[in-house]
Amino acid sequence: TLKFKNFIMKLIFLGPPGAGKGTQAEIISKKLNLKKISTGDILREEMEKGTELGKIAKSYMEKGELVPDEIMIKIIENNIKNLNGFILDGFPRTLNQAIELEKITKIDKVIYLNVSDEEIKNRLLNRGRLDDKPEVIENRIKIYREQTQPLIEFYKEKGILYEINGIGTIEEITKRIEEVLYER
Ligand code: AMP
Repeated sequence: TLKFKNFIMKLIFLGPPGAGKGTQAEIISKKLNLKKISTGDILREEMEKGTELGKIAKSYMEKGELVPDEIMIKIIENNIKNLNGFILDGFPRTLNQAIELEKITKIDKVIYLNVSDEEIKNRLLNRGRLDDKPEVIENRIKIYREQTQPLIEFYKEKGILYEINGIGTIEEITKRIEEVLYER
């Protein structure tokens, strides 16, 4: 609505694979006119174009592994410079990425979409993306637990973590996120 037309914020969408980060980031980015930066999408585009970066990324992505931090940080640096507001979808995924991001800019809020293991496995199996094969899914969840989950505590300590129940209809979850964004 008009009231939030100039709602400029720097946001992170955090959560396990299949939590709905991309879907919600897309909806919120349109509603608030914030640029959405999805590192997974950027890497998949590079893969399709067959660039050097794409080739490197593919070797990690097809195994469900994380692309090295240095590569990811460079991508983010290039994509967020000169932006007053944005939504990061899929970055940061490691503590090191989060620390490097802090050196580049100040994040306002982190939206953590909380979804159970059982639910994410079902969602990913139904999505059918190249890296949504059962073995790869297991590995991505394991890596999420080990490498990305510590970010919840990291941002909680900074007082900018907002936990959202990620179970429900797309509309319900969007509403929950909006409530948290508009509160001060
Ligand atoms: P996503 O579309 O966010 O699920 O990302 C798909 C894949 O891209 C991941 O499984 C990783 O291999 C890679 N990727 C995306 N974002 C990052 C990141 N921030 N750090 C490392 N790897 C990433």
